[in-house]
Amino acid sequence: SEPERPKYRAPVCCVMGHVDTGKTKLLDKIRRTNVQTGEAGGITQQIGATFFPADAIERQTDALTRTAKKKMEMLVPGLLVIDTPGHESFSNLRSRGSSLCDIAIVVVDLMHGIEPQCVESLEMLRKNKTPFVVALNKIDRCYAWKSPADSPIYQPFKVSQKEQEQATLNEFKARTNDVIVQFAELGFNAALYYENPDYRTHISLIPTSAHTGEGIPDLLLMLVQLTQRMMAKQLYLQPELEATVLEVKAVPGLGTTIDIILVNGSIREGDEIVVCGMEGPIHTKIRALLTPHPMKELRVKTPYQHHKVVHAAQGIKISAHNLENAVAGTSLLVVGPDDDVEDLKEEVMEDMETVLESAVDKSGEGVFVKASTLGSLEALLIFLQSEGVPVNGVGLGPIHKKDVNKAAIMLDRKPRYACILAFNVAIAPDIQLYANQRGVTCFTNETIYRLEEEFLRYLDGKKQ
Ligand code: GDP
Ligand code: MG
Repeated sequence: SEPERPKYRAPVCCVMGHVDTGKTKLLDKIRRTNVQTGEAGGITQQIGATFFPADAIERQTDALTRTAKKKMEMLVPGLLVIDTPGHESFSNLRSRGSSLCDIAIVVVDLMHGIEPQCVESLEMLRKNKTPFVVALNKIDRCYAWKSPADSPIYQPFKVSQKEQEQATLNEFKARTNDVIVQFAELGFNAALYYENPDYRTHISLIPTSAHTGEGIPDLLLMLVQLTQRMMAKQLYLQPELEATVLEVKAVPGLGTTIDIILVNGSIREGDEIVVCGMEGPIHTKIRALLTPHPMKELRVKTPYQHHKVVHAAQGIKISAHNLENAVAGTSLLVVGPDDDVEDLKEEVMEDMETVLESAVDKSGEGVFVKASTLGSLEALLIFLQSEGVPVNGVGLGPIHKKDVNKAAIMLDRKPRYACILAFNVAIAPDIQLYANQRGVTCFTNETIYRLEEEFLRYLDGKKQ
């Protein structure tokens, strides 16, 4: 028999901000594993999800809540944190039209203040009306900052503050005020969280160090308190399923699997599902419902736990037949007893059709774009649009000969557009050779902003 359904689901939390502010490191510190060092260029490439169970949060926040007059009641079963790469694909992370995230952490490097990608993130959050808190990270870099000895329970910021000399505190205060002024210039009221007059009108700044863990208890507590206070109703576990495919991955012994974020509702082994496929809708049955062990990340290799049922919010790996062509960044639907499968098939294909149709320029001139996920494809398209570069063709998955042929058409019409921008997709050596022979330039990079930089340098060169 199934255990009782919980009343609340875990809030989904996204980590955003400029590159190198410490997003990965901060999550890493909370997780106490080391995902960061295994990454290409130290930059988060894939979207991972980590579930922080309520008891782990309670342990970290005990020192803060113990002294409170009224003990905080943990209503939510935990927090599900998504580590979104700096500036790509966030805009596409929706689930049936609504934003995937309930709340966001915007990480700001206290030493640098607000940087360009941070401004982009803030604009997206404002547009989506997503509440957020700010982790004012790298406080340990203030001059002569004294950090506590290593401990598995991290130190609240207030305790750290008491340890510092006046000159250090002055620097901290001055830098914090600079950030507050920068927020004001962008039209946001911001305040240190313990000085925040009203969390509905002011953004809370939470000083943290991802190196020493200082301030992490404060950050966790704010996330739980804000979500429980501001959106308790939104956090009721609904019978209706809401889920987004994050990644499609081959796993030895399991075949092709999909990693999904279950935002709301419950999902069961044996459920019939419908997902968007590159060659049309996929209708299949869940063979296994897997999660990594708590406090580990979906993208780290771990022995999986099998489940009969999973309640939101959770990152889940699904094993089923026919998932090879599934498209990341689209909705996953479960076929209910009253559903017509054909309706669901149409619904799941809508996201992809909208993106692909809107992309291609009517002039018949432009570059060719390929990406591994719908989200990253969309991010590249937004970039090209902002640079005024038209697009003549788009696709998901590896570069094929026919893509090269299509790009080669531009050699006669607009030679500088005879190129393929490919994000995080493979190009076989024979295809690369073929492209070279035809005179088609292929830009392939696993880092989206490097790909963009390379392409801009190329365009610059072609202007002269
Ligand atoms: P991301 O690009 O935002 O994910 O940033 P990373 O987590 O990869 O961190 C970028 C760099 O800043 C790394 O060298 C980290 O070790 C360093 N870093 C991150 N957080 C802190 C911090 O709180 N204090 C100090 N001193 N360095 C940090
Ligand atoms: Mg990172």
